[in-house]
Amino acid sequence: RSRRENHSALHHYASNLDIDYYRRYRLEQDLHYAIEREELFLEYQPKVDSWTGKIIGLEALIRWQHPEWGRIPPNDFIPLAEESALHVAIGDWVVDTACKTMKQWARAGAPAIPISVNVSPKRFLIPGFEHQIEQILTKYNLSPHLLELEITEAALIMDDPNISRTLEYVSQIGVRIALDDFGKGYSSMVYLQRYPINVVKIDRQFATHITDDAKAQAIVKSILYMAMEFNLSVIAEGIETLRQLETFRALNCPNIQGYLFSKPVSASVMESYLLREVLYPIEACSLAEDSV
Ligand code: C2E
Ligand code: MG
Ligand code: MG
Ligand code: MG
Repeated sequence: RSRRENHSALHHYASNLDIDYYRRYRLEQDLHYAIEREELFLEYQPKVDSWTGKIIGLEALIRWQHPEWGRIPPNDFIPLAEESALHVAIGDWVVDTACKTMKQWARAGAPAIPISVNVSPKRFLIPGFEHQIEQILTKYNLSPHLLELEITEAALIMDDPNISRTLEYVSQIGVRIALDDFGKGYSSMVYLQRYPINVVKIDRQFATHITDDAKAQAIVKSILYMAMEFNLSVIAEGIETLRQLETFRALNCPNIQGYLFSKPVSASVMESYLLREVLYPIEACSLAEDSV
């Protein structure tokens, strides 16, 4: 079929049936050029120590500034990338950019802080990912301990030998592995036993319900207990209020991430946080809790 036929067929859909179909088609097309046109960029969100208020790590989150439609959220375009081979180039761009930026911050005099990147489950299926990671670390002369890969259960459910091999390899060289959105899906404990996981990220839905739902609290308690038994680090995501912070602290959750501290910010804003060694006034927060 010619391109023109395709286009008019789409037009038909767009005007009569499903406008989203057209948007989706355009996003998919435009995404092919997004890297070379420098429309992709990363934002960084701090991970904070629940007791000291210190920034203990950062999560890199991808953004796409579409020339016509403005910012497209990752949940709208990452799935499109994953349907094609594009997720490979985008995924590698993310790791490279995060590492490059970390190096720039270090040159500016910022203390070294570990950074995590989200990795599409499918990326693990493609042989050579582990070497790509290793190459990027070498290129920027970075300690592997400064890099963490956030994966979701979707990667582990596939139960593919490539996945375990890749995880074992990167883990051996010192890269950390975090299980993202924990508690959202099957949350099988077997994964924690079978794969070299270092960190469990408690899904945002628990933060949303933790202050008024005893069951959510009970689940978080058991995740924390299990993590302790497995010798894993834990971080709660999506903390927006002081009451949520207080509840997670009361449950002894060691690390916290969320809008309460900071939304994801640009590389230059993050550089200024790091240079100033920003300390979130957590103790002051908890004293003020009653008045909030
Ligand atoms: P995620 O990895 O679970 O990231 C957390 C999401 O929650 C981010 O949304 C973040 O901006 C948002 N968030 C952080 N704190 C709060 C809070 O206190 N309240 C609320 N309501 N939200 C909060 P974002 O950036 O839109 O990313 C959404 C998802 O897209 C990510 O979920 C991740 O699965 C995926 N993603 C983001 N960047 C990448 C990437 O570079 N590669 C891949 N493969 N996926 C990515
Ligand atoms: Mg994540
Ligand atoms: Mg998450
Ligand atoms: Mg998520």
